[in-house]
Amino acid sequence: MQVCITEKELKEYIAAAKKAGKSIGFVPTMGALHKGHISLIEESKKQCKFTVCSVFVNPNQFNDKKDLERYPRQPEKDTELLKKAGCDLLFMPTEKDIYPKPYTRKFSFGKLDQVLEGKHRPGHFNGVAQVVSRLFELVEPDKAFFGLKDYQQLLVIKDLVKQLKLKIEIVGCAILRDEENLALSSRNALLTEEEYDEATFIPIWMDEVKKLSTRYKASQIKARIETLVAQRDKMKLDYFEICDAETLESIKNFEDAENGSVALIAVHVGKIRLIDNVIL
Ligand code: AMP
Repeated sequence: MQVCITEKELKEYIAAAKKAGKSIGFVPTMGALHKGHISLIEESKKQCKFTVCSVFVNPNQFNDKKDLERYPRQPEKDTELLKKAGCDLLFMPTEKDIYPKPYTRKFSFGKLDQVLEGKHRPGHFNGVAQVVSRLFELVEPDKAFFGLKDYQQLLVIKDLVKQLKLKIEIVGCAILRDEENLALSSRNALLTEEEYDEATFIPIWMDEVKKLSTRYKASQIKARIETLVAQRDKMKLDYFEICDAETLESIKNFEDAENGSVALIAVHVGKIRLIDNVIL
């Protein structure tokens, strides 16, 4: 696996791969890699001849400074994991490499980024769009792979590619979960044992949502989940919503969802904020 930091090195490696006729698959990450990230690398390797992974903790997408400070960083371990997974090129830029000048471009995604994560983390998706558009400009991939774990992000990125008229196919990949069914996340490493046990209620609730969705109204299920979360001392609910799977407009009745529906949750377990979702 080749490793690079600067734009110049990156472009040389990519140009060589393109010259050899290889299709480029790209997996952007913020590091502290786990099997969820590796599953994206594997999908890229299946679909493309040359896989690039970036590891960059993007300060622009953190609305909470403390969250940015405590975000786990493990560059050596990440390098080893990517080598083992058969990644071809690892791009580990510094902030200066990504943003040589202050990056002030403003993106707009209409209603899509005003709900859920967008509402609770002001400026988050603008920061995501800034880094992803910059990374796309640098890597120029044929396909880019994103996890359904960050469901709203996936929709925002698809919209970004449309807005910028980029010829990049965005591939959504299934959520990977641990043995307790908790969605894998770099933030899980920050949970104490007790908090981890609490967090395992999240996938249990999401399973229940799936079952209830065949018999109850969306509004009734929302009320049920809000009650269940309120009963847990160590948890604080940011949101639980059942939404149209494409517009993310929240629905009261499943018949109102024109594009199918998805249930999304964000909960603080102690100081750690976790998200999950289930397509219904
Ligand atoms: P992050 O490093 O958290 O920014 O995530 C990088 C990419 O990995 C994003 O596309 C995420 O949606 C994806 N990802 C994170 N966790 C998982 C998971 N448990 N299963 C599948 N993909 C994931």
